[in-house]
Amino acid sequence: MTIRTRREAIGLLGAGVATAALSGVASAQAAFPKGAVIRTLLKDYAPDELAGGATLFHEHMSLRTGFMVDWTRYAAETRAANRAPNAPPPPPRPAAAPGATPAQPAPPAGNFLEDADLMTEEMKIAKSEGIGCIVDAGHPDMGRDINFLKKISQGSGLPIVASAGFYTQPFYPKELSNWSDDQVYAEIMKQVNGANIGALGEIGSWDYITKDERKVFRAIARVHKATGLPIFTHTGIPGKSALEQLDILEDGGVDPKHVVIGHLGNLADDNTEIQRAVIRRGAFIGFDRQGGNGDDPVAKMAKSLIDAGYADNLMFSADISQPREIKKNNPNGGYAKTLTQFVPKIKALGATDEVLHKIMYDNPRRFLTFVPKVKRKA
Ligand SMILES: [Zn+2]
Repeated sequence: MTIRTRREAIGLLGAGVATAALSGVASAQAAFPKGAVIRTLLKDYAPDELAGGATLFHEHMSLRTGFMVDWTRYAAETRAANRAPNAPPPPPRPAAAPGATPAQPAPPAGNFLEDADLMTEEMKIAKSEGIGCIVDAGHPDMGRDINFLKKISQGSGLPIVASAGFYTQPFYPKELSNWSDDQVYAEIMKQVNGANIGALGEIGSWDYITKDERKVFRAIARVHKATGLPIFTHTGIPGKSALEQLDILEDGGVDPKHVVIGHLGNLADDNTEIQRAVIRRGAFIGFDRQGGNGDDPVAKMAKSLIDAGYADNLMFSADISQPREIKKNNPNGGYAKTLTQFVPKIKALGATDEVLHKIMYDNPRRFLTFVPKVKRKA
């Protein structure tokens, strides 16, 4: 058939768009099985109810005072231990000029992750900047406080997903080394049965994965099978043990489509070798420390993976944990910074709005959606 007029052409285009939209609806319905929900602290949502905003799959809104101090100290110790034996030591700190006032440690700023008024305000701002749902990646061994999360979700109206699990070797309860696989499984199930948990994460290996960390990953696979809860992980810098994490979960019967292997933006590699290996097995990869100075190489990796056809397996977030990252202290910060700072950098490299929308709005909802096997608590 020949198109004679512009009106006819537009009519055809309209019909085509309508067909595409309808088939889109049909496939979206097929993607979410009956009874599937995203479980937030305050209520279970049908996945489509949260389609109006972006979802952040890995952030921190509650951590105990001192957690990040410990984290930074362990990270420095790990870096020192990993330094090659004949590598030069790091340069000494410059000596203070004579007569200069000795440097004072920064005054204690208080822990913003325990300040409910401040965090309610930060959540309100994130919501106004386009965030529709946000996952807290903490659990008891990180000093995450579930009632605090409920309070800031209620106060801000931003849905928050809470997680369960154990973090990494340096933060495990001492007893864990002596626990059997069954005991670790039972301890995580206790967390899941004690609150409205919507994810298992962040489950990590601190450096090369340890014996205890393997035990936790095996238990997490079992908890996933008993509950349906999605899993997201922490890999040590630079993305160490990513494939081993996925091996253990798959050996435990987990379908990789329910897994994000996290922090793979730390693994700077123009060829994205490990990232592609994880994606080809069906898991998501997390570029999840974004919205800051380290964005440029990660934006390039993201763009190359989009170009290679892997957009369905990308997941972006910011993993906020430091006072300098929040809106109160930084106009370019805030919990929405993945969306407001990082995403525009990939767009500037030529990615379309459509593909970026898929990554920020659709992928995380698909990841978080599950058919609950544990009843919601009142
Ligand atoms: Zn984290």
